[in-house]
Amino acid sequence: MEKVYNHKKVEKEVLKIWRKENLGNPEKEKGKTFCIIMPPPNANGRLHMGHALMLSIQDTIVRYQRMKGKKVLWLPGFDHAGFETLVVFEKELEKKGLSRFEIPKEKLYKEILKFANQKKKEIRNQMKELGISCAWKYEKYTLDKDVVKLVLETFERLKNDGLIEKSERLVNWCPKHKTAFSDLEVIFKEKNSFLYYIKYGPFEVATVRPETILGDVAFAVNPQDERYKSYLNKKVEFEHPLTGEKVSFPVVFDKRIDPNFGTGIIKVTPGHDFFDFELAKKFNLPIIHIFDENGKINLKGSKYYGMNIKEAREVIVKDLELKGLLIKKESYLHSVPVCYKCESEIEPRPMEQWFLLLNKKFRLPKKLKELIKKDHASLKEIALAGVKLIKFEPPRFKKILINWLKQIKDWNISRQVVWGIKIPNSEDVFDTWFSSSQWPVVTLKSFGNNVFKKYYPTDVMETGYDILQFWVSRMIFMGLYLTGDIPFKKVILHGIVRDERGQKMSKSKGNVIDPIDIVQKYGADTLRLGLLMGNEMGKDVIVSENKFIGAQRFLNKIWNATRFLILKRKEIEKLNRKLKEPKKFSQESKKILKDFEKFKKEILTLMEKDKLSLALEKLYKFFWFTFADQIIENTKKKIAQGDFEAYFVCERLLKEELKLLHPFLPFLTEYLWKKIGNKTLLAQQGL
Ligand SMILES: [Zn+2]
Repeated sequence: MEKVYNHKKVEKEVLKIWRKENLGNPEKEKGKTFCIIMPPPNANGRLHMGHALMLSIQDTIVRYQRMKGKKVLWLPGFDHAGFETLVVFEKELEKKGLSRFEIPKEKLYKEILKFANQKKKEIRNQMKELGISCAWKYEKYTLDKDVVKLVLETFERLKNDGLIEKSERLVNWCPKHKTAFSDLEVIFKEKNSFLYYIKYGPFEVATVRPETILGDVAFAVNPQDERYKSYLNKKVEFEHPLTGEKVSFPVVFDKRIDPNFGTGIIKVTPGHDFFDFELAKKFNLPIIHIFDENGKINLKGSKYYGMNIKEAREVIVKDLELKGLLIKKESYLHSVPVCYKCESEIEPRPMEQWFLLLNKKFRLPKKLKELIKKDHASLKEIALAGVKLIKFEPPRFKKILINWLKQIKDWNISRQVVWGIKIPNSEDVFDTWFSSSQWPVVTLKSFGNNVFKKYYPTDVMETGYDILQFWVSRMIFMGLYLTGDIPFKKVILHGIVRDERGQKMSKSKGNVIDPIDIVQKYGADTLRLGLLMGNEMGKDVIVSENKFIGAQRFLNKIWNATRFLILKRKEIEKLNRKLKEPKKFSQESKKILKDFEKFKKEILTLMEKDKLSLALEKLYKFFWFTFADQIIENTKKKIAQGDFEAYFVCERLLKEELKLLHPFLPFLTEYLWKKIGNKTLLAQQGL
C-alpha cells in the first residue's frame, strides 16, 4: 500500500468499481424500499457549492439506508427552470449586444433548448465526478415528453375541478423582464424617496407616486376620521390637477386606511396598486391603466405619453409646482417591491393571467375526503392537513410553513416568457414551479404505475430552506391533490452556503469556490467532509478553502492508521504464520469492544434522527483521539512485547469504523476496505 494518500488514484479506482457494480441501481437491491427524489438542478450553469452540499447530504443518507438493507431509489433530474434560465441566457445575449426581444420566439426557444441541453450534460458530468450513488437510469428532465404530458393532464384536471381561472387581475410586473410574477418572486427593498403633499381638488393629499395621478379615480378615508366625515357617500367635483379637465371623484370609506399617514386621505389608483385595486372591486370604481408593458405612460394625446415612471414623476412634480399645487415634500423611507432578479421596481398592472385558486373549495375524491374528513375543501386546507402528517428536520420549519400556508393567496401560474411548458391555447408558459410542484408524482409516474406504487410516498425530501415556500409547500398540495397521499414522509432542510465572512457566494462578489476545483485539488471525500462537518441542518454553512485543507488531514489520518495496521499484520505473520484471532478475548480487550458497541449504537441513533453532522463529528473524534492516538498506540507497545491480541481488536474496530464512515467518506473507505482484504463492496455491507 502506497505511503501517501493520493485522492486522485483512490477516487478513480473506486469510481470504476462502483460503475462496474452498477451501484445506485435499485433493481440490484432487495429489502424495503427507500426513495429520495433529488431536487433537480437548474439546467443553466455549473454545479455550485449549494448543489454539492445537497448532493453530499443526500448521498450520505442513501448510502446509509442501502447499508441498512433497503432497496434505494435516489432519482436524479434536471429542471428547465423557465424564467431563471431565460435570465442566464439573456445575459449571454447581452454580452453579444443582442436582446431576446429582437429574436423570433421559435428561434429563441430552440437556442435556449440547445443551451440548456449543453448545461444539463455538463452538470451531469460534474455530478458523476462527485461519485454520488443515484439511479442514473431513472434520470428525468422537466421537459421530457412524458413529464410534460403528465403536467398538462394535471392542468386539465385542475380546470375541470374549477381551480384554474383565467381573469384580469392586478399582477406583479417587471418592466425590464416583461413578465408577470407570483408574489414569491417579488422582494422588498428599503428605499429613500419623497412623500409629496399635493393640493388635490378640495383636499390635501400625500403620495409617494405623483405620476399615478393620471390613473386616479377616487379618494379614500378611514370612517373614524372626523376630518372627512361630512364627505360620506358624496362625490367631489374639481379641476384635475394635471389635465385641468372637470372631474368628479367619489370619496370612499374603508377602515383599513391609516388616518396617521399623510393627511389621512389617500388618492385611489386601482390600475397600479394592489390595495387600491381591492377598493375598486369593493366600491365598483373604474380601473385606469396608464403604463404599458415597458413601464411607460400609454395615454395617447397626453403630454406625458411615452415617459417612463421616473421621467413622468419629475415632470409631473414640476408641473404641480408651477401650478402652485405642490404644498411640500418630505423625505420618506419605505419598502418598495422589486424584481428578485434585476431589482427593477415592480409595477403592478392589470392583466389577464392564469391563476391557480388555492382558496376555492372543490369536491374531494375519496382518499382526500377520508384525510380531510370533509366533502369539499380548498388546496390550502389540503396542504394544511398534509403538513401535519410530515416530519420536519429541523422541526421549527413546520411551524413556519403552516403560518405561511395560512395566508396563501391564489397563484399566478402564467409567465410571459418563451422558455417553458406552454399553457394550452395560450402564448404564455407555466411558472416553472408549476411543473416542479408535481415533481415527486410525475417523475415516478413516468416510469409506470408499478414504480409509482413501489416508491410513493417517497421517504425524504431534502432541500434548501430557502425554497420551503416556492417548492416544498407546493409539492405538498399538488402531491395530495394528484394522489390523495403526501409526497414525502419527511422534509430535511439545509442552509445556504456562505463564505468566511458570511456572505452568499456570487460571481459578482468574486467569492465563489467551485466544488469541482475542490474535488480536483483535494478529492470528492474531502469536499463532502468539509461540507458536512459542523453543518447543523437548517443553519447556513460556512465554506472556505482552509476548511477543506483541514478536512483532508483527517483522510490522511485514516489512511495512515490503516496502512500501519496492514504493515503490522505482515510483520506479525512473518513471526507466526498460523496466528489467528483468539477465540476468547481478555477482559481488557472485551471492554474496548463493548465500549465500541455502545459508541456504534450512539452513531446509528444519530443517523436515524438525521443528525448527520453530529454523527460525523463523533466518528471523527473517536477515530482520531481514541482509536489512533490511544488504542493503536497501546497496541504498538503490546506487539513489541509479543502480545498480539490487541492487534486483532484494532482490526475489528477498523472494519467497523470504515463501515460507519462509509456514508460520509465513500471513496477512501471503499478503497481501504478492499486493501484490508475484503472481496465484497463496502457500499453493500450491512451495518
Ligand atoms: Zn426583472
